[in-house]
Amino acid sequence: MKIGIYGGTFNPPHLGHFEAAKAAIDTLGLDKLLLIPDSVPPHKDMPDRSPDGAHRLEMTRLMADALQKPGVVEVSDLEMERAGKSYTSDTLAQIHAQYPEAELWLLMGTDMYLTLHQWHEPEKVLKLARVCAFGRAAGDTREVFDRQVDHLAKTYGAVTQLITIPNLVEVSSTQLREQLAAGQGGADLLPAVYGYILRKGLYGTHADLTHLDIPELRACSYSMVKQKRVPHIRGTEEEAMRLARRWGADEKVAQRAAILHDCTKYLSLEEHLALCRQYGVETDELEQRAVKLLHAKTGACIAKYVFGESDEVYEAIFWHTTAKADMTLMEKILYMADYIEPNRAFDGVDEMRRLAYTDLDRAMLMGIEDAVEEMTQRGYPIHKSSVQAQAWFRSHGSTDAKEAEK
Ligand code: ATP
Repeated sequence: MKIGIYGGTFNPPHLGHFEAAKAAIDTLGLDKLLLIPDSVPPHKDMPDRSPDGAHRLEMTRLMADALQKPGVVEVSDLEMERAGKSYTSDTLAQIHAQYPEAELWLLMGTDMYLTLHQWHEPEKVLKLARVCAFGRAAGDTREVFDRQVDHLAKTYGAVTQLITIPNLVEVSSTQLREQLAAGQGGADLLPAVYGYILRKGLYGTHADLTHLDIPELRACSYSMVKQKRVPHIRGTEEEAMRLARRWGADEKVAQRAAILHDCTKYLSLEEHLALCRQYGVETDELEQRAVKLLHAKTGACIAKYVFGESDEVYEAIFWHTTAKADMTLMEKILYMADYIEPNRAFDGVDEMRRLAYTDLDRAMLMGIEDAVEEMTQRGYPIHKSSVQAQAWFRSHGSTDAKEAEK
């Protein structure tokens, strides 16, 4: 088994780290990659106002999730849990004890590689692991590494593999910390990491969460969900805007509602119930055990009370899962966009898409009927709002088509 070990201060993790990790997994054919944020970096002082280890761990987890290699990429809190300076020799000894048969590969950029002989116990480091080194800048050609490759091989018997990062990003956390404090830097961060920084107000960002522009709102939303959900959220955003345009609704409102509609999707039942209590949302007996139903309600609360969104956005998100009788146009648009966005594939989706642009109420009825039928087949209880929605849309014809014809 080949295990890559990528340590750093990750203060914050940026696209340079992300691309390096991706390249190492692919080039070395790693079975596992451990991302290990250090607790007390031995080689540099932690800058003032650095977020605590828990934030750096969380941001590194977001980067790991964005690599989309479940079962391969893991974040380890091994150095956070260990007292004192975070020496790589100690970390490697711990990992070696845990995986005695594994081939360990230590990943590092130019700066770290060229100073490796000055690290604590380099002989132990280079006995326990091979090194995968990569340039951090376009100017870091092979010649930059050559002498050190020879020196480490002769002195410690080190094995080095030099790799090239196909999408090199020339950025450092130091630059980013400065840019973030000046209200910039988003472009060199994964959106989820950027959103996390904004939400937590790290690095002196002081963003007003109630007046975010679209890229920042997206970043915040993506920082709250698993990255595999992002294409769906993006698809819902596009579809909601298209539907709003078609039916004469406010595109911006539809867009913001879509961006935030699933932001609490991954909370636990306890977290949902705590948010409902905090924001005074009543829950019935069925909702109290159904995370899927609760995420619409709590998502609406976060949209309104954290991100300052309007009541129209709140209501659209609130009803996007169960639907209800007599929905507003915006509520229907979000419900339908979530159902038919371009990533969705199910029997009848083409017909539903066609109806959504020709007769929105009939598309709604089709969606609600399908959802109720599926839940019935699976033996799930049907929420009363969905039952009422079904009855309402059955008894009310295609009002939107009539309105559009006017
Ligand atoms: P700082 O600016 O705070 O010193 P940094 O950007 O160098 O931070 P670290 O967390 O210290 O980031 O780096 C961890 C590892 O990632 C190191 O091995 C470093 O060489 C490597 N690395 C950092 N930035 C890049 C980059 N842009 N491209 C490739 N590798 C990088």
